[in-house]
Amino acid sequence: MSREAFCVAADCRATSGGVERQEEVDAWCLDHAERHPGHDRFRRVVTEYRLIGEARTDRGTSVN
Ligand SMILES: [Zn+2]
Repeated sequence: MSREAFCVAADCRATSGGVERQEEVDAWCLDHAERHPGHDRFRRVVTEYRLIGEARTDRGTSVN
């Protein structure tokens, strides 16, 4: 799973970049908000990866 936060303040394209832990995203948001007054809202995205190979194995097991 990959997490990322984007500052949504006007004309700001700052992003935390993809990180593993929620704590890292939160820390980045707090730090960004402290350094840039008014930048207090963020869009957070969590990317989850689906492994098709595992799904096929699961399906085969349940059918058998
Ligand atoms: Zn910002």
